Amino acid sequence: MKELVRSNILNTKPYVAGKPIEETKRQLGLKNVIKLASNENPFGPSPKAVNAMKKCLSDVNLYPDSQGFYLKKKLARHFSLQPDNFLLGNGSDEIIDILIRTFVEPDENIVTSDCTFLEYEIIAQVNDRKIKKAPLRYFKYDLGAILKLVDKRTKLIFIANPNNPTGTYVTEYEITDFLNVLPSGVLVVFDEAYDNFVDVDDYPDSLSYLRRKKNIAVLKTFSKSYGLAGLRLGYCIADSGLISYMERARQPFNVNSLAQAAGIAALDDKEFLRKTRKGVLEGKAFLCRELSRMGLVFLSSVANFILIDTGRDCLEMFKAMLKFGVIVRDMKQYGLKNFIRVTIGTRKENERFIRVLKKILKEKS
Ligand SMILES: *Cc1c(COP(=O)(O)O)cnc(C)c1O
Repeated sequence: MKELVRSNILNTKPYVAGKPIEETKRQLGLKNVIKLASNENPFGPSPKAVNAMKKCLSDVNLYPDSQGFYLKKKLARHFSLQPDNFLLGNGSDEIIDILIRTFVEPDENIVTSDCTFLEYEIIAQVNDRKIKKAPLRYFKYDLGAILKLVDKRTKLIFIANPNNPTGTYVTEYEITDFLNVLPSGVLVVFDEAYDNFVDVDDYPDSLSYLRRKKNIAVLKTFSKSYGLAGLRLGYCIADSGLISYMERARQPFNVNSLAQAAGIAALDDKEFLRKTRKGVLEGKAFLCRELSRMGLVFLSSVANFILIDTGRDCLEMFKAMLKFGVIVRDMKQYGLKNFIRVTIGTRKENERFIRVLKKILKEKS
């Protein structure tokens, strides 16, 4: 059958998602399983979003609004921009694909970093586009190294900020310098899936760059801080001219009606966002304190997850934790063979994670 398949697809490594709770229960015969593997919101979905969806459940016989009129209007007000500055997507994953298909010619390339969101590389390969990866510097995006990879054929740059899986970020100053020397024919995409968790002062306000330059696109998502990962809703903010071309490259009904209703309501749910932020910051402080006490090395994170060097093979660690019903993410795919990434959970989940981690490390030493 292989001869039927295009060579770029043969060379694409499939995305490995976080292991689902139900599958783990089934396979290991466990009753109580927690998932700290996909950076989801541990506090559930925004209740306002859930209510809004209930109201439109009986209309799902109708196609969704192809233009996402009300959601774009709401987003425009939220960010003090215009509705035509927004493209909606079936998760920001879809928008990564739309960006590549809209802007990158077959002989052009994409630049990003090593050890970042794997979808950039996977989607580039599926589209048969070349992607070049600059090394990280102290586990951080190295914008200087990225600049060195930019050539005449570079069309897109993906910068995950904060980065997944490291939880590190590039500062306002670094980005200002970077944009000052970058050729204007290159589109820079800031993927800000975790922006609502950031609590540092020098995190860039990417929208301020967007007001001054046209070669900027910003990706945001409802999957993390708004707790709507299962609905698949993300968006791109950019110059209205660029957005209009991207609109051509999407499917007409890419964002379903429940997601549109939920998105509108979630943006109003300030209380849920506040609680989520508070819970994540407290959970992170707890985990960092405990990990330090255990003498483990981990990265300081501005997102809702922590990358930890367990000093053991990460797949072994993953399997050992799984037996106790705790799903984490091993970093083998990223080439970090002793690291696991843990999503900050509820207080109870965090405590259980630490308990299990201690137990395993003690058993093995
Ligand atoms: C989780 C995540 C996303 C969000 O993807 P969706 O398709 O919107 O769920 C995007 N970028 C990064 C870096 C992520 O970690």
